[in-house]
Amino acid sequence: MENTHGLASVAANISSLAAQARAALGPPLSASEQSLLEQEITALLSEQNAVLVAHYYVNSELQDLAEATGGYVADSLEMARLGLEHPASTVVVAGVRFMGETAKILSPEKRILLVESSAECSLDLNCPPEDFSAFCDQQPKRTVVVYANTSAAVKARADWVVTSSIALELIRDLTTQGEKLIWAPDKYLGDYIQKQTGADMLLWHASCIVHEEFKGEVLVNLKTQYPDAAVLVHPESPPSVIALADVVGSTGQLIQAAQDLEATLFIVATEEGILHKMRQSAPGKRFLEAPTAGAGATCESCAHCPWMKMNDLSRLAQALRHGTGEVLLDESVRAQAAIPIQRMLAYGRKHSGAR
Ligand code: SF4
Repeated sequence: MENTHGLASVAANISSLAAQARAALGPPLSASEQSLLEQEITALLSEQNAVLVAHYYVNSELQDLAEATGGYVADSLEMARLGLEHPASTVVVAGVRFMGETAKILSPEKRILLVESSAECSLDLNCPPEDFSAFCDQQPKRTVVVYANTSAAVKARADWVVTSSIALELIRDLTTQGEKLIWAPDKYLGDYIQKQTGADMLLWHASCIVHEEFKGEVLVNLKTQYPDAAVLVHPESPPSVIALADVVGSTGQLIQAAQDLEATLFIVATEEGILHKMRQSAPGKRFLEAPTAGAGATCESCAHCPWMKMNDLSRLAQALRHGTGEVLLDESVRAQAAIPIQRMLAYGRKHSGAR
């Protein structure tokens, strides 16, 4: 059973917002412009007792700058957790809005700045809190599990928040305990989990505009061309792509697989920003982007998340100079949303294999 209530109009809005994000991408910087901005940002981070945390999907220069200045490159959960544990009083989030919100939920006393406050996520946009709450109200006996890619208000309605690194293990445990579930928002990840665990799940009907463009049919051709390549797939991808995977996993798990597998050539079905970290952590290996073009393709994102790519050095400098993009949340929503996130963190600590 899926919820499709009102999602056609939301989809049109998402398409328009994604187009606006692509149109707002800044021009490439010259080497000297980049160097000057990096120096200024490094000084501002230090002056403001701030740390930069970047997602694996943002541009490589932001990933490198985060690490060079004592910050981190991580998945969404780790970004929030590292922001919480770091002594800095300001956490600058290079990612999308829900990541800034998650950092604020866990660190309410800190100033959380988004590099770009209009950086959205199609999964978050496609799960409006009022509609989702009404959906949950229709099934009051079900445990509500939501993916990290949701707004603070949706998290506040949930019993559990999960990331893709922990979802399978947690839902297997909940199913063993006899719980019936509501899952939101990613329908492909929900479908994958359902197949793997046999869980009784009602699925919300949203998808990531980047991952859903990967094409199983064309991936078969690429695999034929490179028979020795291992295929790494993020579970936000369609089932036809997941079916061809050697490894299905979260961003962190796919990076680990690139290091651990004996293969020296990989086809990667997730946002292309991750290739930077894969190349750094598995030097000497080669990585190809999984195809988003070919028969039936409507490739607009082409493995580039338009909102992740809004994060750039110019916007980062702007955020630090003027304090723009500060994340502010209603305290009652924040406190309520913290409960299912803390529950997930406690579960992750108990289950060492979960990350
Ligand atoms: S890649 Fe997909 S899931 Fe990730 S932020 Fe972009 S739209 Fe959201």
